[in-house]
Amino acid sequence: MNTMTLLRGGTVVTALGTRRADVLLRDGRIAAVGPSLAADGAEVVDATDRYVLPGGVDPHTHLDATFRGETTRDDFASGTAAALAGGTTTIVDFCIQPRGVGVSAALERWRERLVAHPPVCDVGAHFAVTDLAPSGVLEELASLPERGFPSFKTYMAYPGRSMLDDTDQARVLAVAAEHGATVLVHAEDGPAIERLIGEALSSGRTGLREHARTRPPATEADAIERIATLAGSAGAQLHVVHVSSALGVEAVAAARARGARVTAETCPQYLLLDEALLDGPPERAAAFVFTPPPRGAEDRARLWAGLADGTLDLVASDHCPFDLVGQKRTVDGGDFTTILNGAPGIEHRLVLLHEHGVRRGRLGLERWVELCATAPARRFGLGHRKGAIEVGLDADVVVFDPARRWTIRAAEQVSRVDHAVYEGMPVTGAVERVFLRGTEVVRDGRVVAAAGQGRFVLRERTAETA
Ligand SMILES: [Zn+2]
Repeated sequence: MNTMTLLRGGTVVTALGTRRADVLLRDGRIAAVGPSLAADGAEVVDATDRYVLPGGVDPHTHLDATFRGETTRDDFASGTAAALAGGTTTIVDFCIQPRGVGVSAALERWRERLVAHPPVCDVGAHFAVTDLAPSGVLEELASLPERGFPSFKTYMAYPGRSMLDDTDQARVLAVAAEHGATVLVHAEDGPAIERLIGEALSSGRTGLREHARTRPPATEADAIERIATLAGSAGAQLHVVHVSSALGVEAVAAARARGARVTAETCPQYLLLDEALLDGPPERAAAFVFTPPPRGAEDRARLWAGLADGTLDLVASDHCPFDLVGQKRTVDGGDFTTILNGAPGIEHRLVLLHEHGVRRGRLGLERWVELCATAPARRFGLGHRKGAIEVGLDADVVVFDPARRWTIRAAEQVSRVDHAVYEGMPVTGAVERVFLRGTEVVRDGRVVAAAGQGRFVLRERTAETA
């Protein structure tokens, strides 16, 4: 195996700037960046008219994850292959604590899933806390940051399943503050949503559009405000996942203005998909049942503006792939609440942000790279190794053809899931080659990674400044 590769003549794009430069990858690291580097025996790759980008970092995925008895279609092998195909070289997945199970036992189950289907990109995990009842949970949580898990996730939604009430949220936030962890929060007002769902069902409103109507933007904004207040009292760092609405963006901005240490993400589905899609034939509209739900045009405009103005810090996929046929269905006579929530997206995050962000003039090239790679790496404790094209960092590099036109089709994707929520969408810009720690893992757009090429990555504690 050649351990030295020279990417020659490309346009290197980082969060800091864009320039013509060669990039030398040696022994898994970026060894040099500059004009006219000597090949010195390296395999030379012509990157003329291509962007050379740091590998994408997707900090929000659900691989081999079981919700309501169904397991997502991508395991760690297929899901990380899909990630590579889309230019993402590191993901941070979730180890979700099953209720009644302790922290170590939950981590052990998550690791078994990782080992059973070894990943082809690098993988870390946030620990999602759903139950403080098992003995020693808070003590074990306290030990996670120094064991390479410097982030916890909590849910304010799904009462009776994964929601923690405000008292328990405060307890987790206190542990996080004391031990330097970040708390990622699913901010939706679960009890308020339960009331709205109850009203919809009791008045016979069961169609899929009710999924959006029963989770209005105010339930997101109220939850963000509440958790930011709790985090402020605890002195904890907070990260709001999948912000979906204009009110949500405003709530993040307001919390930050009050001094909260809060960052926030959105996802391509909130930037691109309209809630009216839920009005389609149920067998297709079920694809758009994800949580929070898709919103309206004004919300999307505010999300794009939030990415540009820095109110939103990064873009994650929330890849949660359930098949449309056989998994995301209403059970006989069922209503909108019986459809599994979630949408695939791990494979298309970079190209969608390039098409709808960069090419439409909403984001600069550097901001695109920052949102998809640099900011998630830094925010979640990977900035010492990932997210930039700098000497000494892991040689995770994407060669991106900004001119190639193609159309998103489920039939051609790497993910195992049976549909794409962007089916038929034309895009310009394609991932051509990907290197993971110096080894070519995508060539001519095809994944060529060897099984198990990915590694579990230990992450460092970080300050919240992304
Ligand atoms: Zn999620």
